[in-house]
Amino acid sequence: MKNDIKEYAIRQAEFRPGFEDFVAFTKEQNSKLLIVSGGIDFFVYRLLEPFDIAREDIYCNGSDFSGERIRITWPHPCDRFCNNDCGCCKPSILRNYDPEKSDRIVIGDSITDLQAAKLADQVIARGFLTEKCRELDLVYKPFETFYDVIGILKQRQEELV
Ligand SMILES: [Zn+2]
Repeated sequence: MKNDIKEYAIRQAEFRPGFEDFVAFTKEQNSKLLIVSGGIDFFVYRLLEPFDIAREDIYCNGSDFSGERIRITWPHPCDRFCNNDCGCCKPSILRNYDPEKSDRIVIGDSITDLQAAKLADQVIARGFLTEKCRELDLVYKPFETFYDVIGILKQRQEELV
């Protein structure tokens, strides 16, 4: 059962072009890349397996297969500043990084990225997140592929110098 679900999830998933180069780019730049997903650990880990990303940098929901049914666990709940009942709480994870010491960039496409986007120094958005940013007058840069993201990050570095 578990394997069927895994295989199904893997087959359905695809990465936007340039993801591998993007991961390599963050390493070259010594930027800390965190993957934060509302997905479940077994398929998130499996999907990310081909890429050079440490487990501790992957935040997602957990799963317990010991019983009759799969039980979802929530290892990254909302902190006291968030009451959105997120499950895997993106703003809480971002708050672990001191804004004084970090340039906090949020790349996302979903409503679940919005609260983190509000805290970010730079938002790189596509899909529904761009609509939300426009609605709330949040500044963002649009992307379609991870090659776009690399371009935006390079441009940001030049602007920050
Ligand atoms: Zn939350």
